[in-house]
This record gives sequence, structure tokens and C-alpha cells, in this order.
Amino acid sequence: MNAKLACKDVRIKLMGLIDNEISGEEKEDLLKHIEGCPSCKKIYNEFRTLKKETKEMKFKKLPEIYWDDYWTHVYNRMERGIGWILLSIGIIVLFSYGGYEILRDFFLDPQKPFLLKIGTGTLTAGMIVLFVSVLREKLLIRKIDKYRSVER
Ligand SMILES: [Zn+2]
Repeated sequence: MNAKLACKDVRIKLMGLIDNEISGEEKEDLLKHIEGCPSCKKIYNEFRTLKKETKEMKFKKLPEIYWDDYWTHVYNRMERGIGWILLSIGIIVLFSYGGYEILRDFFLDPQKPFLLKIGTGTLTAGMIVLFVSVLREKLLIRKIDKYRSVER
């Protein structure tokens, strides 16, 4: 019988045993020794726990991929948000300029009261901002509708 297996030899092979690299008669001999030897059994169990923990650590690493996706998603959304803001500002500036050009004679007319000019100016600016806001909403809704029709 191989019960004469020395502890020293068993311990060298413990990791291989846990990693399933040892099979057949050799494995049986090792397990038999471990069962009958408390000190080897203790090490064997410690190794097994260690291996289980390292395995779990590998699993814990997995969500990092999801984090990457998450940040890409956030970044894309931020980028799009900035894009919309710049687009809105651009349209507002251009329309305001156009509005000023159209109403320039009115604004430069010294006969017209200053308050009336401010009123007309803010009214025009307000209408432009609202127009851009509605336009953006319409575009966004159309985009969402497109997503919905794809889903179905
Ligand atoms: Zn032993």
C-alpha cells in the first residue's frame, strides 16, 4: 500500500491535486493520505479555500467591463448633451442676429422709447429660445419613436 507516502511528497503535490492535474491511482493515494493525516488535511483545506477565493476574485473582476460600458455610455450622453447645448446656442445667436438685422431700423430709431426696444428685444429673444426648445424636443421625440419602432 502507498500509505507510506511521506507528508513532504504529498504537500508538493497538493496544488496539482486541487487543480485536477493529478488523477488515477496517484490521486487516490494522495487523498487517502490526506484523510489519514490531520496536518496534510489542514493544508489541503487551506489550499482549497485559497483557490476558491482566487477564483471568486476573477469573477469579481468581470463587472469592470460593465463599468467601462457604463462610462462610455455616460460620456456619449454628456457629449450629446453638450452638442445639443452648443447647437441651441448657435441657433439662438444666429436667429437673434437675424432678428436684430430685420429690426435694426427699429432699434436704431432714436424716436422709439428705450423701454419699447427692450420689450421687443426680449420678446424676440424669448420666441427664438422657445422655438429652439420646441424644435429640439420634436427631434428628440422623433429619435425616441425610432427606437421604439426598432424594439418592436
Ligand atoms: Zn501527511
